[in-house]
This record gives sequence, C-alpha cells and structure tokens, in this order.
Amino acid sequence: MECRRSLIEERLKSRGYKLTKQREAIIKVLESLNDRLATAQHIFERVVETTPGTNFSTVYRNLDLLVQEGLLRKTSFGQEASYYELVVTDDHHHHMICKECGRIRCIDYCPINDMPLQEDGFMPVDHKLEIYGFCKECLKNIDLLKDERGRERE
Ligand SMILES: [Zn+2]
Ligand SMILES: [Zn+2]
Ligand SMILES: [Zn+2]
Repeated sequence: MECRRSLIEERLKSRGYKLTKQREAIIKVLESLNDRLATAQHIFERVVETTPGTNFSTVYRNLDLLVQEGLLRKTSFGQEASYYELVVTDDHHHHMICKECGRIRCIDYCPINDMPLQEDGFMPVDHKLEIYGFCKECLKNIDLLKDERGRERE
C-alpha cells in the first residue's frame, strides 16, 4: 500500500502536481474499500472525517484530476452516479452489479480471450462487460419474501 502511494506521488510529481492532503486522503479512502469502488459523495464523506474543512467540489476536482492522470478509473453503470476506483497496473477487470441494492463488485477475470472472436477475422481493441444480478444478501431477502408469500397462500 505504502509502495503504491509513493508510486502515485511520483507519477503526480512528474506531471507537476503535488500529493496534497486531500489527494492523499482520497487515495487512502479508495485503498480502504472492500468493494474497491465508491461514488464521489461517499469518498467526500470519508475524506471529511480525516481532513475536516474539505468541500465537495475540491474532492470532485481532485477525483477528476486523478482520473485524467490515469491514477483512478471512473465508471458509470446505467443511471447511477459514477464510481471511482484505483487503477493498478494491468488490472483490467469487470463488474457484477446487484439489481436490488446496487452494490458493485469487481471480478478479476476477463473472458475476452476465451471468446472465438478472431475466428471471424475480428480484432478486438476494447470492450465493456457488466453482469447484472442479485447479491448474496439480496437473494436471502428474496427467498424470505417467497417463503412469506408461500405461507400466505397456505
Ligand atoms: Zn444486493
Ligand atoms: Zn472494479
Ligand atoms: Zn475484459
């Protein structure tokens, strides 16, 4: 983690930016996430805890800068707010999105090379893959609902 932070610092320096308190706080928040992804609002709320006095637009501007410098990735899923995550070298991956609670999880797997695309003389250069479904927690609730409905009918 420390190692990554100094890499980020070096990268910013080489572009003429400093690793300011706010930028460092943003990176720390993103490093601490279980699901790796967070919205600007969520990041802002966490940054304020460690760096009081930070306003939302500062966080937002810094997020944009870090995206522009290739240190963060910004992804949006449908109508939802955009999500940010740290870019790790060679970490191309995909996402599973729960249709019920909106939770997004990263899948460290890419099926593109297993697809018979080249057989057709096609050369893929980019792709997006988002898998929609229900997370474990929501499935439990859905099962409970079904149980209740079943009981009502009896
Ligand atoms: Zn869910
Ligand atoms: Zn991800
Ligand atoms: Zn992929």
